[in-house]
Amino acid sequence: MGKVTGFKEEGRELPSRRPVEERVHDWKEVYNEWPDKDARTQASRCMDCGVPFCNYGCPLGNLIPDWNDLVYRGEWERAIAQLHSTNNFPEFTGRICPAPCEPACTLSINQDPITIEMIEKKISEKAWDSGFIKPEPPVKHTDKKVAVVGSGPAGLAAAQQLNRAGHLVTLFERNSYLGGLMALGIPDFKLEKKIVERRLDQMRAEGVEFRVNTNVGVDVTVDQLKSDYDSVILTGGSTVPRDLPVPGRSLNGVHFAMDYLTQQNLRGRGEEFSPEETISAEGKNVIIIGGGDTGADCLGTSHRQGAAKTTQIEILDRPIAPLKPEERQLDNPKFVWPEYPTVLRITAAHEEGDNRDFDVMTTDFVGDDEGNVTELRAVRIEWKSMGTGPRPSPVPIEGSEFTLKADLVLLAMGFLHPQHQGLLDDFGVDYDGVGNVKIDVNMMTSIPGVFSAGDMQRGQSLVVHAIAGGRAVARFADEHMMGSSKLPGVKRYFRQLATV
Ligand SMILES: Cc1cc2nc3c(=O)[nH]c(=O)nc-3n(C[C@H](O)[C@H](O)[C@H](O)COP(=O)(O)OP(=O)(O)OC[C@H]3O[C@@H](n4cnc5c(N)ncnc54)[C@H](O)[C@@H]3O)c2cc1C
Ligand code: SF4
Repeated sequence: MGKVTGFKEEGRELPSRRPVEERVHDWKEVYNEWPDKDARTQASRCMDCGVPFCNYGCPLGNLIPDWNDLVYRGEWERAIAQLHSTNNFPEFTGRICPAPCEPACTLSINQDPITIEMIEKKISEKAWDSGFIKPEPPVKHTDKKVAVVGSGPAGLAAAQQLNRAGHLVTLFERNSYLGGLMALGIPDFKLEKKIVERRLDQMRAEGVEFRVNTNVGVDVTVDQLKSDYDSVILTGGSTVPRDLPVPGRSLNGVHFAMDYLTQQNLRGRGEEFSPEETISAEGKNVIIIGGGDTGADCLGTSHRQGAAKTTQIEILDRPIAPLKPEERQLDNPKFVWPEYPTVLRITAAHEEGDNRDFDVMTTDFVGDDEGNVTELRAVRIEWKSMGTGPRPSPVPIEGSEFTLKADLVLLAMGFLHPQHQGLLDDFGVDYDGVGNVKIDVNMMTSIPGVFSAGDMQRGQSLVVHAIAGGRAVARFADEHMMGSSKLPGVKRYFRQLATV
């Protein structure tokens, strides 16, 4: 514990965000640089708890009190070594993780928690700037070959771990850019692409072979993978979006959020689109359907493209506290920590313009003679228990119908499961009850030697879970090929899987 009285003397302070008027005119990250001194002061608040609940709250099992102490002491090189011992890519999670460790922090019982995520980012950036992060090629090679399919955080983590264990790793990606949703889904103002590229360069230097523009199941067959590799890791993500099959769905201007976000990310890389192909919010009335991360990313992107008006609608209830919905409610107490808080989240995009409406169900879209969407029609709903199942159902409130002017509608309602056709059906893997890839306690699919992790296996989730899955699956695949493994496992994964 760095400073015994730190938590009594200092309050929680985050780095400042750039002014809204400035940042909505560019695509750069929203946070300003954080001076070392401020990060060290924040780290001094850590109480080095005997039972560190932050560590339990982190899906990777990050050794948070240890690196808080090192940051307080200014030992940045040791801090990044601690961080890397459980997390391959702290510069990603330090930027875009919703940080379940923070509400789990003991301090949050009666104070604000430690700024764990920002300290993680600070350690990473300090380490990159100081040259502490170097390629770590394997000392010894095995004669085993591994194919990883998909370059999101799960595939990258698995590839880096298996390569460092000495195996020859080839990672296949069907897009032109590596990084999965971090490359083509998540906008630059949350995660600039140079941050992803910097890590990819390290992996190239370590010996991982990347094959982009290679759709496995089309450009390379599954039989080729089976015959050429000792293990195959499937980390293709959850890519089938939830649709809204209401009248007017096929009108021009109604798009899946990912089509919109991908195009902007490609534009950021210098790609151009014809007027017919372009999906832009410029000068438009934009309606975003869905209140999660994807919806917030559409909102921030619309602000930067110069939307005339943005409205975000959500079918679920607004967190109920009338005055402070961003605080926990009685049925979600912090005294039973580490219970995750169900509160109204105000992201950087919401700070730039927040026009959210809850308990709203879209009934149809209306268009003009040219087939362009002009209006969204909706009804207010209440959630009622209908006695048919454990969960309440949405019931329309009579007479509450209303319309919203709409030139661009973005469907951000999540993803159902991975794409089955092609890769997965060709392998013939079994699926779980919701269509994700089914695995056993060793993270192996129903096909021997073929493993799976990340969103493809657990359903749409978070970058931190994808990295944890990638690390865990690497250990299982290593064990499968070598009989035993020195790669670190991920405790949480062993426990969760043991109960599957
Ligand atoms: C818009 C958006 C914003 C998000 N924001 C956040 C956030 O702020 N914080 C957070 O923690 N999480 C966020 N998430 C969730 C997070 O991005 C995912 O949980 C995470 O990326 C999953 O990682 P993955 O490696 O399993 O799959 P993905 O990142 O989806 O990567 C899978 C890759 O596999 C490739 N692939 C699929 N099939 C094949 C094939 N047959 N051949 C070759 N390649 C293939 C795909 O092209 C893709 O590149 C967000 C998700 C979205 C959609
Ligand atoms: S729970 Fe909070 S105060 Fe305790 S060790 Fe973790 S970060 Fe520090």
